[in-house]
Amino acid sequence: MTKREHIETILAQAGNRTDDAKTGSVSTPLYFSTAYRHAGLGQSTGYDYSRECSPTRDVLQQTLAKLENGVAAFALSSGMSAIQLVFSQFKTGDEIIVSDDLYGGSYRFFDLLTDNYGLKFHLWNGQNFDQLDQLAAHEQVKGVWLETPSNPTMKIIDIQQTAKVAHRHEVQVIVDNTFYTPLLQQPLNEGADLVVHSATKYLSGHNDILAGAVICKSQSDAQWLERNLMTTGATLDPFDCWLLLRSLKTLPLRLAQHERNAKAIVAALEKNGAVDRVLYPGHGGMISFYVRRSEWVDTILKHLNVISFAESLGGVESLMTVPAIQTHADLSEEQRQAKHITANLLRLSVGLENSDDLIDDLTQAIQAAIAPAKVAK
Ligand SMILES: *Cc1c(COP(=O)(O)O)cnc(C)c1O
Repeated sequence: MTKREHIETILAQAGNRTDDAKTGSVSTPLYFSTAYRHAGLGQSTGYDYSRECSPTRDVLQQTLAKLENGVAAFALSSGMSAIQLVFSQFKTGDEIIVSDDLYGGSYRFFDLLTDNYGLKFHLWNGQNFDQLDQLAAHEQVKGVWLETPSNPTMKIIDIQQTAKVAHRHEVQVIVDNTFYTPLLQQPLNEGADLVVHSATKYLSGHNDILAGAVICKSQSDAQWLERNLMTTGATLDPFDCWLLLRSLKTLPLRLAQHERNAKAIVAALEKNGAVDRVLYPGHGGMISFYVRRSEWVDTILKHLNVISFAESLGGVESLMTVPAIQTHADLSEEQRQAKHITANLLRLSVGLENSDDLIDDLTQAIQAAIAPAKVAK
């Protein structure tokens, strides 16, 4: 067996040597063809029709599988379609345990599954493993779904411990690894069964494509995932596959810089008297923080010159989000209060700009929010 290459090498080399026989192309060829000609009855090049499989998507999927150390990966048209693919295995009456601080769109999807398809969800705080053990013991419970760090309050959930408890009851563990990426965390190596990504975020990293991925550890999971995806059809189109593959090559460099910038900003925000509390999980480029007064938020957003007020994350350009009114708007006020997703909470996706410029931008915008009271009088 050959030694497993380092992630940087896997990514830099992704797609090279895939077209050796024909051209020796170093960059992956981009095949747009939806149909593939057959030499005769019962003969195929391996490609028939592009919903089932296509050459550029294959190269991307092989790279994603290596990246998460899985047996197979599937590239989809969005993170939500990746989540939907994973849930296509469940049946009416099945019950799923979900960690309680998640991407808002996941909650919205779970509500739909509850209302229209008869699935049942149990909320778990990600920390109490006795409670997880009790929930997982229920006959109908089939899976645990979690995000770590959690979104937007950045709680860490122990994947190994979760898998240990869940597997005792033959319950599957699924991790949304969008925030940390396989560079900071490889859930399959820690015992998870399936990994999901919104590749719209760090994996593509340029705020310009919508994409999702599912990676699995077992051949039996690979089989139903492939069958269900081929049947339902939310695959990633060839051009976006190519763009994502190209973007992945620089993921290690991007992530290192996102993290360096984030650490500098955390240090600056912690010294800012207008900031109550900074939530940073220790790695990566995502920061949440509470400003002392929610009335300041609008002024802060209006005064940002470098950072954009926009809802997404993981890209080159820094983005500021207000979870209570954007990503988590569909939760009830009660749910938001319980999760501390209040109107004074801001989430910052730290980009690749110079960190001094980002700190200056934040500082002046916060100052503008504090100052007008004085200026106006
Ligand atoms: C954005 C996001 C999703 C949804 O992905 P889309 O690509 O927007 O469909 C799911 N999970 C997390 C953690 C996300 O940030």
